[in-house]
Amino acid sequence: MALCKRRGFIYPGSEIYGGLGGTWDYGPLGVELKNNIKREWWKDIVQLREDIVGIDSAIMMNPKTWEASGHVEAFTDPLVECKVCHARFRADQEDSINEHEKSHGKSNEWTEPQKFNLLVKAYLGVLEGKQSEIYLRGEITQGVHVNFKNVLDSTRIKIPFGIAQIGKAFRNEITPGNFTFRSREFEQMEVQYYIEPERGEGEKWFDYWKKQRMEWYTKLGIRKDHLSFRNHEDHERAHYARDACDIDYHAPFGWSEFEGIHNRGDWDLSRHEQYSGQSMKYKDPDTGEEYLPWVIETSGGVDRAALFFLIDAYWEGDGRIVLRLHPKLAPYKVAVFPLLANKPELVKKAKEIYEDLKKEFMVAWDDRGNIGGRYAAQDEAGTPFCITVDFQSLKDDTVTVRYRDTAKQDRVEIVELKEYLHDKID
Ligand code: ATP
Repeated sequence: MALCKRRGFIYPGSEIYGGLGGTWDYGPLGVELKNNIKREWWKDIVQLREDIVGIDSAIMMNPKTWEASGHVEAFTDPLVECKVCHARFRADQEDSINEHEKSHGKSNEWTEPQKFNLLVKAYLGVLEGKQSEIYLRGEITQGVHVNFKNVLDSTRIKIPFGIAQIGKAFRNEITPGNFTFRSREFEQMEVQYYIEPERGEGEKWFDYWKKQRMEWYTKLGIRKDHLSFRNHEDHERAHYARDACDIDYHAPFGWSEFEGIHNRGDWDLSRHEQYSGQSMKYKDPDTGEEYLPWVIETSGGVDRAALFFLIDAYWEGDGRIVLRLHPKLAPYKVAVFPLLANKPELVKKAKEIYEDLKKEFMVAWDDRGNIGGRYAAQDEAGTPFCITVDFQSLKDDTVTVRYRDTAKQDRVEIVELKEYLHDKID
């Protein structure tokens, strides 16, 4: 957390006013990391596939959406209140409850668990007293399902197919915490994958997406032994799920949900059909058969991904702190330094390289202090490559390229730099 603040990854939300519980702001490096995660996800899910298209739906939706989706009735967590100090906790989070009991030095009394709805309310309209109450979306999923027909009518996509979306969701979490892990405002990246309504198809695609999503995280650098599948027991499945499995991450605060893969059956489309009075059926273009498809969903948190990629990348040793982020996720791909800031010919050449590389990569510039300090700063920022322009560069148009994880250096011709970097990053 200290590194995140110091280097500009993540700051507490509204900090100068004492903060706002469960909100976080991403700084200059954090926004790059998050954008890179989203870009990689979109590339693999939408750009490289023919069976998935993307949308970007509104955060504010007609409140009927949330009645239909079951969130008004069932999007609840069990809440208990400490009778001594009125602090509120989730009844199913035993660790926090035990911790709180210790703070009173004796065993507390608690209220009976009551259902607490997590939807965040907002008010829309210009007439005071006549504003309509709406909800900020509690999941981005419903924006996809209400557009199911629009997407079908405006594309040539056929079942099985998916609709992908990335966007903000809001939850009045009872106990936000563990840094950004549980926030009240967060981003999700989701695929709703529509399939034939049949048990065998459901199992096939559920397994397919579990495998895909696990591979995606390991491909981008999360250690295999830090990830595991956890199937939901019958009693813990969300109201919409026929089958549910989480990808859990071995966080410093214990194994924790990273992403959920759910078989939502035809829950969403049948409820929207019922509540809107509009047909949500899919018509098979070949057979003419009409049916409500089932949906396999993969729902991951962008903020949890940013946090877990950071935790997994964090390395301390040999007196160094290094963020060994995958080069595709690293905020800056490369940093450029003149060996000495007071030698104009070195600065000029380094600036030329910097200006040229900037057109293709996120590039950092640093000419302060000694070279060791500059390397250390880039190591903490996760920058995989540092280019130094030295006196030899003036003679033979080569530079040193230092690799973050090994601190080893290559001598590379300036004209070869772009290709060298593309090659290493990919
Ligand atoms: P939890 O059990 O941790 O409350 P959930 O099962 O309610 O999570 P889902 O509704 O399945 O979570 O949401 C899908 C994904 O969205 C989660 O796997 C997580 O990555 C992310 N997410 C959910 N709630 C939060 C939150 N409060 N803060 C950050 N990310 C979240």
